[in-house]
Amino acid sequence: MKFELTILGCGSAVPTLQRNSAAQVLNVLERYFLIDCGEGTQQQLRRFQVPYNKINHVFVSHLHGDHFFGLMGLISTFSLQGRRGELHVYGDKRLEEIVTFQLRVMNCKLNYPLVFHSLTREPALIYEDNVVTVRAFPLKHRYDAPVCGFLFAEKERERSVRKDMAEAFRVPVAFMHRLKRGEDFVTPEGEVVANARLTTDPPAARSYAYMTDTLFRERFADYVKGVDLLYHEATYGDEFAALAKETFHSTAGQAARLAQLAGVKHLLLGHFSSRYPDPKPLLEQARAVFPSADLCYDGAVFELTAEKRKV
Ligand SMILES: [Zn+2]
Ligand SMILES: [Zn+2]
Repeated sequence: MKFELTILGCGSAVPTLQRNSAAQVLNVLERYFLIDCGEGTQQQLRRFQVPYNKINHVFVSHLHGDHFFGLMGLISTFSLQGRRGELHVYGDKRLEEIVTFQLRVMNCKLNYPLVFHSLTREPALIYEDNVVTVRAFPLKHRYDAPVCGFLFAEKERERSVRKDMAEAFRVPVAFMHRLKRGEDFVTPEGEVVANARLTTDPPAARSYAYMTDTLFRERFADYVKGVDLLYHEATYGDEFAALAKETFHSTAGQAARLAQLAGVKHLLLGHFSSRYPDPKPLLEQARAVFPSADLCYDGAVFELTAEKRKV
């Protein structure tokens, strides 16, 4: 029942020896979602022992090199390793042109289906299965096409039936699915048994939001209201607020302000400029505004446990 984020790279612009370019893997109950795919992502997947053959969905926030230069290599490796299952890629519509052009030049025919999904400037549900939804939402960055953040949300699970009580009240098997959905049970004698006596709360649904390169805008908080875990770029410290604005990036203090406005449970900072070999000052700036914050580093793992149920 894992809901676990692994940071593969949390640098910006150019990869350094301390930090790889942007990439993360989110494991939601054994679904492995790759979020951005900067240069060197393949090696990071191996280094941090991510079962990368289980990656079926890749979400690319925008086509700046530090977010997608690793994708072509990964696509090629999957083919060399005999992948058969579909790989779904979500991103700027020009990503399909870029990838198909390169495959054509290499005269390479993939032995698995590669399926592209275009992102738009409108918030949208872009993926859904029986346990999780993924939504894309537009941010503001120096880029002439949609730049998207992503929200991964586990679906509410059904209530858990208390076997002892269900047996005691002789709830028929055919009624169990209604019990799980919260209905009261009425005995043949007409006695109403409250659902709360027969079931227990399911674990809380967990959520994670990824806010890639962007200017700070208060209204973006609406997209990520109340998430358990928010990643927000913090390319610069607050001392470079003017530079952040000029380059369409955010500062650590702005990331914290966004977390505060959205009422998230926990904030992760990443996408650090190479001018911060040690980004600790950014953490101090963020915690002054929003105490529940941490720094990303390559290989960091953040798990959201299933037990926590917030009432
Ligand atoms: Zn970037
Ligand atoms: Zn960018």
